[in-house]
Amino acid sequence: MTAVLRRLDRKYTRLEQIGHVIDIPKGDPEKHLMLYLHVPFCVVLCPFCSFHRVRYKKDRAKQYFSTLRKEIRLAHDAGFRFGEIYVGGGTPTCNVAELAETLELAQRLNPIRQVSIETNPDDLVMDELKILRDAGVNRLSVGVQSLEDKLLHEMERQEKYGNSAEIRERLAMTQGIFDTLNVDLIFNLPHQSLDSVMRDVDILTREIEVDQISCYPLMGATTTTLRMKREMGNVTYNRERVFYEAILDRLPETYQPSSAWCFSKHQSLIDEYIIEHEDYVGLGSGAMSYLGGTLYAASFSINRYIRLVEAGHSGITRMSRFSDKDQMRYNFLMTFFGLKVNKAQMEKRWDGRFEKTLWQEFAAFKLVGAIRDDGENWILTRKGMYYWVLMMREFFIAVSNFRDLMRLGIKSELDPEDLEELSKSATLLAKAGK
Ligand code: SF4
Repeated sequence: MTAVLRRLDRKYTRLEQIGHVIDIPKGDPEKHLMLYLHVPFCVVLCPFCSFHRVRYKKDRAKQYFSTLRKEIRLAHDAGFRFGEIYVGGGTPTCNVAELAETLELAQRLNPIRQVSIETNPDDLVMDELKILRDAGVNRLSVGVQSLEDKLLHEMERQEKYGNSAEIRERLAMTQGIFDTLNVDLIFNLPHQSLDSVMRDVDILTREIEVDQISCYPLMGATTTTLRMKREMGNVTYNRERVFYEAILDRLPETYQPSSAWCFSKHQSLIDEYIIEHEDYVGLGSGAMSYLGGTLYAASFSINRYIRLVEAGHSGITRMSRFSDKDQMRYNFLMTFFGLKVNKAQMEKRWDGRFEKTLWQEFAAFKLVGAIRDDGENWILTRKGMYYWVLMMREFFIAVSNFRDLMRLGIKSELDPEDLEELSKSATLLAKAGK
């Protein structure tokens, strides 16, 4: 199953380079889309991470935020209007004043209802949290990953982001400031025990009682798998299901699944905005947009991104147009991850062709008991939840491999240490045909 998924995911992440500068596609002011903003700066570059990020430098970040604001204005001039904002990274809170100014601009130009941002535990500082709350942030998602000191040390996070006791204290202080406080955990880390994950789940849901936890399986892109092997141990997936089932069993009843890996105490926003929003616009270096069946990627070179946008163009340098069937498969993967798909809505979206076109997918997943039909909705079963975790893991690994390939093209902007790691992996990536 994993091999089949890898082939399919590679197809989705094969974006062709555009040889010329293109303008931002035209938007429809009547439609309020999701806006994703990418902030590619981190103080520490964690070994397990394949997001598009570079080391934080204050002047560079200020220049970047200023360009991001220019791109928000360009998108507005092109007719786009946004109802929700998701800011990811990197570490969006690397410069809170710049972030707040950017959010204020986006809200002035758009009918924004919800703002969700990612952060790290060391940025949970009361003065800065108040600035974010006043800037309209509803949901704060904290990348904790683990509450075990040994694992935090292996992930090179303990020194910069705090030890377990410090993180717990900061989370407890933050709980209640925003509509939703989400904590990200990773399961299936090389030296992680089942007890360790259970302890983390207990602390977060029974002690601190955060609004939401997202439990991600370890996702080893080709390059990060190499780095993890050296610094954290071998990456294998044979314990993944045991971890996942144990988490489902351990969660208190008050936490219900919002997606296959996100669990909330009440109705909450979730991380995977691509589940709920078929079309979305991504602004910033390396950001992806999906509009009318075409996937766009902005330049991963921060220099080039700044040059393009400052000259009044979009940052887009790659794109891929999906066939109708591939769009339906993409919808199938994303919407089922949200646990329930309304049959009438989905068939209306595809002129009654959805189930007919994807009959093989439906037949296979019904046969193994992953999907059931209650007449009105297709519903993911508990077994299906794990299959979707597996499929999303493979999808994000493919996206990460694409990002790594893009990063190889911007060597002059990377630190020597990161560059060395990437270069070692280049041959592997080429062999894998990614
Ligand atoms: S895990 Fe978060 S903090 Fe670490 S490098 Fe990735 S984006 Fe940055």
